[in-house]
Amino acid sequence: MTKPNAKSNIENILTDTFGRKHNYLRISLTERCNLRCTYCMPADGVQLSPKAHIMTYEEIYTIAKEFVKMGVTKIRLTGGEPLIRKDASLILEKLASLPVQLTLTTNGVVVDRFINDFKKYGIKTLNISLDSLNEKKNEEITRRSYFKKVYQNMILLVKEGFKVKVNCVLIKGFNDNEIIDFIKLSRDLPIQVRFIEFMPFDGNQWNKKKLVSLEEILSEVDLNFKKENIIKLKDALNDTTKSYKIRDYKGTFAIISSVTNPFCDGCNRIRLTANGHIKNCLFSSKESDLLTPFRAGEPISVVIKKAIQSKRKIRNGMDTLDKFNQPELHSNNRSMITIGG
Ligand code: SAM
Ligand code: SF4
Repeated sequence: MTKPNAKSNIENILTDTFGRKHNYLRISLTERCNLRCTYCMPADGVQLSPKAHIMTYEEIYTIAKEFVKMGVTKIRLTGGEPLIRKDASLILEKLASLPVQLTLTTNGVVVDRFINDFKKYGIKTLNISLDSLNEKKNEEITRRSYFKKVYQNMILLVKEGFKVKVNCVLIKGFNDNEIIDFIKLSRDLPIQVRFIEFMPFDGNQWNKKKLVSLEEILSEVDLNFKKENIIKLKDALNDTTKSYKIRDYKGTFAIISSVTNPFCDGCNRIRLTANGHIKNCLFSSKESDLLTPFRAGEPISVVIKKAIQSKRKIRNGMDTLDKFNQPELHSNNRSMITIGG
């Protein structure tokens, strides 16, 4: 009888029933934030988990280590705002000791305080959120006044040699008239501007009419640039983006079309919320509590395997655009701020 191969058994835990291997773990460090983006959280805030239910830095590290043993090679820290955790530096230090590509998604407000940490802990790329290039509009969408700081921090990151991706959630009638201005940012800055289709989450007043689709973004691009100057770039299987470049621009732009053109076939992502629950899909309201068995000293591989095995093929069953018209399919989901985008 042949002995089972221990390594491949471990790796199999992260392979779902459609053969998708999950090697990319997104960890939310906190449900809190120093901004209040309208598309991410309701105006009256969210019910926060009790502090004792939030993973400590040791727990984050030990759980992440387990995932790495199972085949995770990339970890993204997110939130809420990951950099407002008091122990953010310590978490970066601990996770940097694992054999993974470590990165983070941030609103950029306090990035300047972390430049040395990022360098020390091998962070090479960062995603920074910026939804309008107009100070007033930025204030409206974030319900806070940090536009200048965020813009300066984005430039600082570029100057310091980091690869920067700028995330911009487009909302019809609000910032869709800035698509070209955002793309023009990539003329002199070697950044990737990423337009994200607005997605429905609890309390964010989503409505299909507010969506700016991939198709609409591309028509706007077609109207403003000569065809021969719009270059389609190659996307990797696991990319969530469809990437483009304007000829002679230093940077690129890309579209994340989670609503009109999902990219679930190549999904390699698994999410861990700040209170230690696995979410096997951004659109799934079901969660698997990993932290309780972990704290009880039970093996967490069983929970992880079950969560991965129950992952559905496309957007937790919202396989057509029409299904977005059924609020019961997406309105029970947490607000994005407590998931970690
Ligand atoms: N605070 C950090 C930030 O803003 O980058 C990290 C957390 S935030 C939840 C992660 C990403 O999710 C951000 O780029 C944000 O724009 C995106 N996001 C939040 N709500 C969204 C929604 N309803 N639709 C699309 N993207 C959303
Ligand atoms: Fe905070 Fe990021 Fe959500 Fe804005 S998108 S409220 S910055 S977590």
